[in-house]
Amino acid sequence: MKELIRELTQAFGPSGSEAPVRETIDTLIRPLVKEVRTDALGNLIAFRPGTGSGKRVMLAAHMDEIGVIVTAIDDKGFLRFSNIGGVNALALIGTRVVFAGGAAGVIGSEPVDELKDLKLEKLFIDVGASSRAAAEKQVGIGDMAAFHGPFQDLGDRVVAKAMDDRIGCAILVQALRELQDSPHHLIAVFTVQEEVGLRGARTSAYGAEPDVGIALDVTRVGDTPKSRTMEVSMGKGAAIKVKDASLICHVGLRRHLVEVAKAHQIPYQLEVLERGGTDASSIQMARSGVPAGVISIPSRYIHTPSEMVDMADVRSCVQLVVKTLEGPIDL
Ligand SMILES: [Zn+2]
Repeated sequence: MKELIRELTQAFGPSGSEAPVRETIDTLIRPLVKEVRTDALGNLIAFRPGTGSGKRVMLAAHMDEIGVIVTAIDDKGFLRFSNIGGVNALALIGTRVVFAGGAAGVIGSEPVDELKDLKLEKLFIDVGASSRAAAEKQVGIGDMAAFHGPFQDLGDRVVAKAMDDRIGCAILVQALRELQDSPHHLIAVFTVQEEVGLRGARTSAYGAEPDVGIALDVTRVGDTPKSRTMEVSMGKGAAIKVKDASLICHVGLRRHLVEVAKAHQIPYQLEVLERGGTDASSIQMARSGVPAGVISIPSRYIHTPSEMVDMADVRSCVQLVVKTLEGPIDL
């Protein structure tokens, strides 16, 4: 599974530029499902029919990652940029970025007196060019870049860029591999543009007409030194979301996920996330409403080039998805 995580995290895919990730996932899942298609926004939608009269279950993991977009190039060849999704200036200094075409750069900063003055407009990307003309040979206005964040295996834990939410994609791919018979009609959706407003989930949920929706995404933890209070910890199991800033999960579905975890001795923890949102919010409000919930992967250093997850938690999430799909879903 680590190799799958490496492959998915290293694919290029800032919001709106998910094609390379989509091609990677398409190749991986085609043998596992009946039908795969890409919709108008770029969501990759896979369908696997059930063996009985189960529910239409939509599982969603977002393909896009945060990144930066070039807004201007100065005479000396330095690029100014804006954010794609929730990018924190503090996490950027010294970070390397990589463009779709392969050009790379380093993020530098103008001098600032205080850290609170460190805003994106103080930062620039240095692509190693000595003039505007030289820079323009590599990049142009509107080009997007992703963080450079190689996959590293730390043993029980792994770290890479874009773990948010390629780890969700990896769990969904692995669940498709392990799932035997399911009574449910499964619609596995690898969504686009989550980081800029849960957009791909909105159109794909409308099209999928699910009876139930479950998103797979990362959540933060409260177990690092002097962290903000948060009950979720690394290594304590799949996090079953109760609420975040974008949705209150369907109570029956949340209870059902807990029951499945208990019945199969899958480690789990309940998650209340004070900020942030997930695709489940868009699914919940599709058409006339869909019971929706989230299985979250506890993660450290979210929205930096070094997002970390625990392999035992990843395993728990795969098992929870598989066991949920294998039995009846009573809400
Ligand atoms: Zn995410």
